[in-house]
Amino acid sequence: MQATLDKGSVRFITFGCKANQYDTQVLREALLRRGWNEAQKESDLVVINTCTVTAEAGRKARQVARRLARENPEVRIAFTGCLAESEPELLRELPAVHWVLGNGEAKRPVNFLRELGEELDPEELGIPAGITEFAGHTRAFLKIQDGCNMSCAFCIIPQVRGPSRSRPIAELCAEVTRLVQAGHREVVLCGIHIGHWGLDLGLELGQLLEALASLEIADDEGALDWRLRLSSIEATEVTGGVLEAMARHPRRITPHLHMPMQSGDDGVLRKMNRWYSVEEYLRCCELIRAALPAPAFTADILVGFPGEDERAFTHTLEAAREAGFCRIHAFPFSPRPGTRAGRPAEVGTPVPVEEIRSRRARLSEEAHALGERFKRGLSGQRDTVCLEGRAGLSGRYQRVEVREAPARLQGRLVDVALELESEEVEGEVRTRLIGLLEGEPR
Ligand code: SF4
Repeated sequence: MQATLDKGSVRFITFGCKANQYDTQVLREALLRRGWNEAQKESDLVVINTCTVTAEAGRKARQVARRLARENPEVRIAFTGCLAESEPELLRELPAVHWVLGNGEAKRPVNFLRELGEELDPEELGIPAGITEFAGHTRAFLKIQDGCNMSCAFCIIPQVRGPSRSRPIAELCAEVTRLVQAGHREVVLCGIHIGHWGLDLGLELGQLLEALASLEIADDEGALDWRLRLSSIEATEVTGGVLEAMARHPRRITPHLHMPMQSGDDGVLRKMNRWYSVEEYLRCCELIRAALPAPAFTADILVGFPGEDERAFTHTLEAAREAGFCRIHAFPFSPRPGTRAGRPAEVGTPVPVEEIRSRRARLSEEAHALGERFKRGLSGQRDTVCLEGRAGLSGRYQRVEVREAPARLQGRLVDVALELESEEVEGEVRTRLIGLLEGEPR
């Protein structure tokens, strides 16, 4: 069903990863610049940016659309994003859905606005490459590339986002400058497979990091203190160039790496079509530790992939311990139609749902213990926190409570001395990191 609409208010709902949140911001800015107003609650136009990484993510998006249609008979829904790309027919059948727009590249906001009935051509639109702020967030996400060249057995992303395409350095430098000047003192570099940034340009990620970290950004009052964080990067793609840039700019690039491990068992990694062995992954961790001061490692681990038996799962617990993760995102395996693991029995012996639940709980327990150990190691150390309210995120990806921080420091990077506090709540010892302010932030 096609429709045009009078300009009015528009509401955005985003599912999924940081790259999707960035894509929503691109659409938001394009619409607001054309005179639309953003609504937080009711609106006759709702843009739902979808995710298809799990069947659950798709189910939730469809559920939201049905609820919106029930609550407001006038509502018109525009679906976009990965689910709109992978299963457009399913979305078109839903009530109140007027547009289903996939991940069409480059001129995407232009196409989107035309679909909404806006008469314009790309020149006239005047969309700067990228975004100018990250609405409602202290930390801004910046998408440096899209797409993925790999073919992990559980993942549908390469099918819906295509191969890796990198954004040029000059465009990204300009965008970081805009974001920092707009007040975002932490910019998180995200994408679908950021370790492959530059492959299509004959460059490598370390060069981009060096260029971005060397930017001196100022406002009317002088130089600004700001930093970059890498969102998620494969361990094998933390190259010498990446480490050199990180080591050369310790204040500008947080010593935190989120490196999906997925499994700590070589047999399962092969079934997943991952390209490294556990030994190689752990060697990468060692190299990073040798290059950076006390880096923080976080990881994604997929639990219950077909063929993962108790022994393989034990290998994962051991590898997690050896890597010394400070946080683990433990995902339960669920077959994603359209992927190689969509028919689990063809990949390996399926793991019963109850067993997946139990392994996930065991992994979460291990993750908690590792996180506590990491926090204890930080006590007495210094770090820099991006302040949001009474707490903030430290360079090493820890939530730190900063007491008595004046209001004028909100959103700024503040240097703190860390202390670990613990208290007993209902028979359980809970710990938290406290940051004591040091010096005057710039
Ligand atoms: S590396 Fe694997 S899991 Fe990551 S986006 Fe590419 S195919 Fe998916």
